[in-house]
Amino acid sequence: MSITDATPVNDTTIPGPATPYQGDIARYWDHEARPVNLRLGDVDGLYHHHYGIGPVDQSAIGDPDDSEREKKVITELHRLESAQAEVLLDHLGDVRPEHTLVDAGCGRGGSSVMAHQRFGCKVEGVTLSAKQAEFGNRRAKELGIDDFVRAQVCNMLDMPFANGSVRSSWNNESSMYVDLHDLFAEHSRILEVGGRYVTITGCWNPIYGQPSKWVSQINAHFECNIHSRREYLRAMADNRLVPNAVIDLTPDTLPYWELRATAPSLVTGIEEAFINSYKDGSFQYLLIAADRV
Ligand code: SAH
Repeated sequence: MSITDATPVNDTTIPGPATPYQGDIARYWDHEARPVNLRLGDVDGLYHHHYGIGPVDQSAIGDPDDSEREKKVITELHRLESAQAEVLLDHLGDVRPEHTLVDAGCGRGGSSVMAHQRFGCKVEGVTLSAKQAEFGNRRAKELGIDDFVRAQVCNMLDMPFANGSVRSSWNNESSMYVDLHDLFAEHSRILEVGGRYVTITGCWNPIYGQPSKWVSQINAHFECNIHSRREYLRAMADNRLVPNAVIDLTPDTLPYWELRATAPSLVTGIEEAFINSYKDGSFQYLLIAADRV
């Protein structure tokens, strides 16, 4: 197989969950049906499992006693989540229609669809959840882009793509489920030299010292393991991924959380932990874009 051919190495033996923990995560996402994810996705058919960034448009959400307030807040939160994905796509580098991108930990596929719409290229999503992969593939079919956007059930530490076959790849809020050295070794393997890797993630701040109680609560809530900023940069450096942008999105994501906390039908109980940890400096919302060298 040529190194520019991104077709799966073997379609019939796609590896699924490899550890008991990954089985837990697959089950978690198979059963996930929170209104905050589904009702926001229903706004325009782009389903995200990540958070939003940017200023809240106060004129769009109306007064607190507006009878349409909840609907307006949902639309606004969704706009901010799509704005987050746009910023991720802005950092994927020079992507052409003939390239292939990989959305590692793709969820229901909202970012994959947006990437195809922007670049016109193929986007391969991987998730541990069969339900999510089915959902994403159904959406791609409905949109008539299933020749370009596809989700597979597989472990992102062992992806079915040939060495150097991928132009750019990303983790949008999915890197806290894996060991970072293993993750970046795998991205580095599939990326071509000169390709780009991007992550948007919550990470704990080494300046704070250790993970705060809020960070521990977030870990317990999502059954994940949030890494520190230092670990990200070290694991990238060890795997031929050289950062060209490190952007602290914390101030940009706070308005999203503060708005979300006001919508009784959407809150999940974890809002306070995010808001407090962003404010006390123990947690950061970070974008890191790195060149594969
Ligand atoms: N990136 C998506 C979804 C984020 S939710 C979005 O922005 O909407 C986290 C995702 O990570 C889930 O889809 C989950 O299945 C996936 N995930 C976690 N560990 C994984 C692993 N080892 N391999 C593949 N996907 C994984």
